Amino acid sequence: MYKLIIFDLDGTLAESKQPLTEEMAELVTQLLETTPVAVISGGALPQFIKQVVAKLPSAAHFENLYLLPTSGAALYEWHDWNWNKIYEERLSEREAGEIEGAIKVAIAETGVINFSDLAWGERIEYRGGQVTFSALGQQAPLALKKAWDSNHAKRHLLQAALARRLPEFQVSIGGATSIDVTKRGIDKAYGVRKLCERLGVFERDAVYVGDELEAGGNDEAVYKTNVQTKAVKDPSETTRLIESILATTS
Ligand SMILES: [Mg+2]
Repeated sequence: MYKLIIFDLDGTLAESKQPLTEEMAELVTQLLETTPVAVISGGALPQFIKQVVAKLPSAAHFENLYLLPTSGAALYEWHDWNWNKIYEERLSEREAGEIEGAIKVAIAETGVINFSDLAWGERIEYRGGQVTFSALGQQAPLALKKAWDSNHAKRHLLQAALARRLPEFQVSIGGATSIDVTKRGIDKAYGVRKLCERLGVFERDAVYVGDELEAGGNDEAVYKTNVQTKAVKDPSETTRLIESILATTS
């Protein structure tokens, strides 16, 4: 039995930027009855509300739910009918500007995308604890996003180019088309550690569920912690995993 279950969001609990399915919402609601559950992802808090919180019934045990937006750069807990910020490793506006400039130079250098091509929404977004570059824009259709860099090559190229220009920051692969930049040392491992510490849970008693635990994937950082890991291929595999966890706890 796990003392804490931590889920990646996109590709794990839901399709990229999509809300939880009814079935997933029901399973998460059942988990929350007995176990602290955390969700960690590159999005900002409003994205978590839209994809996860809004899909759960109002009677769900939100006091057992922990939200870690911007790849763990921030933590929110539910108290007094509100999501309260516990910490945020915020980037200043000046840092965000510096990162944006470096992204533009790295794009030109690598040629992974033509900046003058039409995008689906903003390509560069400042999310407080993180600046995110989305190659096709924030609202690009899922099928196009999945097809853009299926072998990770473009993101790795861009990540390397950007890391060279921003040695004082953390440059990570985000979703299917995105690169996340946070303060140095801030990644999913940081968020996982902070949460375990806060809840007084030994890392080895927690489990992390993600669809990109392989080398270079955006869940790989959690191997720096001692949490157990479960790799899933997609949300339907997560569904089966939660069902098996629920079967052992009831
Ligand atoms: Mg994922």
